[in-house]
Amino acid sequence: MFKKYNMEVFPCLVPASSKLKSFNFFLVKHENTLTLIDAGLNTDECWNSLQKTLKDNGYTLTDITGIYLTHHHADHVGLVDRIVSTHSIPVYAHPYAIRILKRDTEYIKMRVEFFRKLYQEMGCGEIGEKQVANFNNPIILGKDKKIHCEIQEMTDNQLGIDILEIPGHAPDQVAFYNKASRWLFAGDLLIEHMTSSAFIEPDVGGTRTKSLMQQKQSLEKCLSLNAELVFSGHGRIIENPVDLFKERIKEIDEKANKYINIIKSGITTTSGIAQLRYKDKYEKQFFTIMSEVIGYLDYLEFQGKIKKEMKKGIWYYSCN
Ligand SMILES: [Zn+2]
Repeated sequence: MFKKYNMEVFPCLVPASSKLKSFNFFLVKHENTLTLIDAGLNTDECWNSLQKTLKDNGYTLTDITGIYLTHHHADHVGLVDRIVSTHSIPVYAHPYAIRILKRDTEYIKMRVEFFRKLYQEMGCGEIGEKQVANFNNPIILGKDKKIHCEIQEMTDNQLGIDILEIPGHAPDQVAFYNKASRWLFAGDLLIEHMTSSAFIEPDVGGTRTKSLMQQKQSLEKCLSLNAELVFSGHGRIIENPVDLFKERIKEIDEKANKYINIIKSGITTTSGIAQLRYKDKYEKQFFTIMSEVIGYLDYLEFQGKIKKEMKKGIWYYSCN
């Protein structure tokens, strides 16, 4: 348990067998509210962890006054329906997350078309087509993960906490920051043991987000807060995160240099670059890898280090 001034945080850290190490969500006691920040996966392990954390601290489910979601990913919203079906409380998310959580048909259709066109232009050919049609791929947002209860748009200060937009990992990602305690709940922006992916997504209008550049700006924004603790979505709670924020920002430029070298070696399409760098992982982790490569090419193009030219519907990159 973490306590400072009039705020207490009770973390639920549920072990994960994957490289994520754990799924984290947090009960926050502040004045008359007991807020749940994020809601783990929809599993009995997460459910039991929530129940145990409540019980150990003298609460029950009915003491929770609201749920705030840092972003729409399934490992952060899993228990929402289970909680709300037994105890009706407001659920808040970024306006952009709501369409995704509700699996809005128009949005999903737009998103699939967005990726189909994107992968064509990036020279992925048949492999790209196959990925778009694969229902296990994160491109297809599974209907089984749809949230059924009502979700409201979050507005500032309902928590006595500042809400900061920190897109990059997801276009709808937000952080919650309490100035008095200098505690930051940052979703998956900063994870101690691994670099968080900046996933390419369409924005509300269907335009591609510059997700890596957004991620960098979000890291810089949170670095400037000089936070004392970061309650992260996975792995350990991070004390004095300033150096880690700086390291993650520095890593971006180091990795960008690797991409310049690949382009200098004469590989010109995004899919070619991805295959050279990731070999047999390319097809297995397609969504993540393509997000990374496209993100870095956007970044280098923005910096004026590379340029692109379209020939027969495919983008070709070269150094400036
Ligand atoms: Zn996550």
